[in-house]
Amino acid sequence: MKALSVVIPVFNEVTTLVDLYERLARTLEDLGRPWEIIFVDDGSTDGSADVLRALHAQDPAVRVVRFNRNYGQHAAVFAGMERARGDVVVTLDADLQNPPEEIPVLLRRLEEGADVVGGARVNRHDPWFRRLASRAVNRATSAIVGVRMTDYGCMLRAYRRPVVDQIVACHEISRFIPALANTFAGSVAEVPVEHAPRREGRSKYGLLRLLRLNMDLMTGFSLLPIQAVSLAGVLVAALGLGFAIFLGIRRLFVGPEVEGVFTLFAILFFFVGLQILALGLIGEYVGRIYQEVRRRPRYVVSETL
Ligand code: UDP
Ligand code: MG
Repeated sequence: MKALSVVIPVFNEVTTLVDLYERLARTLEDLGRPWEIIFVDDGSTDGSADVLRALHAQDPAVRVVRFNRNYGQHAAVFAGMERARGDVVVTLDADLQNPPEEIPVLLRRLEEGADVVGGARVNRHDPWFRRLASRAVNRATSAIVGVRMTDYGCMLRAYRRPVVDQIVACHEISRFIPALANTFAGSVAEVPVEHAPRREGRSKYGLLRLLRLNMDLMTGFSLLPIQAVSLAGVLVAALGLGFAIFLGIRRLFVGPEVEGVFTLFAILFFFVGLQILALGLIGEYVGRIYQEVRRRPRYVVSETL
């Protein structure tokens, strides 16, 4: 019988935890295989920890890992995966936006032969600008990782043990587990899953946090962005040269031009912008190298139950 580990990152989700546990336990019982739930408390400050302690006291199949402060969702999932003992690991959000009842669907697809099964949220209940941004991100991620998926952002996912071992063995500081998993999986599948609106609290992902996550995703998985920038640089230089030659010839036949000053400004600003972007990209890679060579721990655990 294949044992199952469910990993759940928790950051200030006190209102949903008990409900989540009950729905999850019911679903897992019906599967009739050994299971454990690993809650990773990502530095909650709202009493989530007390609820988790109570759940652990009531059910020994509930394990809890607590971080000493907030390190981010993917660090939390990573910590849970490191400790998971199951042959299959399922990840899930704590806010009940991913219905636990969908887990059997994922497992069935896994048994039909896939190393990773991702949920694809149908009827997604998130603001329109997030859905729009997600579509662009999914396209880009698919291209970069080389594995097509319609919903990289959905954390309702199932992984087989070999893939989990590979993820855990990665020492790089990547904050995007679904993409990491797909680089190791022999076969990947997707199944549609329900998505509920957030009942309590607000999403922890503001615009800035989403932008940072995506920057990390782009630079963390390929050198394509920086190569694209270099190519653009060559193109821009060629265009600039052509323009200069044109102006030189024009000067011989028509004389110097002055009226075009502001057009020139516009063009200049465009290129200055490009340069700053390129600098930023380089900085991103340098920052990454810096983080890797420091070899700091990804998180610090303050309590394990
Ligand atoms: N989360 C976390 N650490 C964080 C931010 C979020 O562990 O720094 C957890 C959060 O408790 C939830 C999941 O990650 O279980 C997804 O977060 P959220 O619902 O805010 O994201 P969204 O659904 O808007 O993508
Ligand atoms: Mg959510």
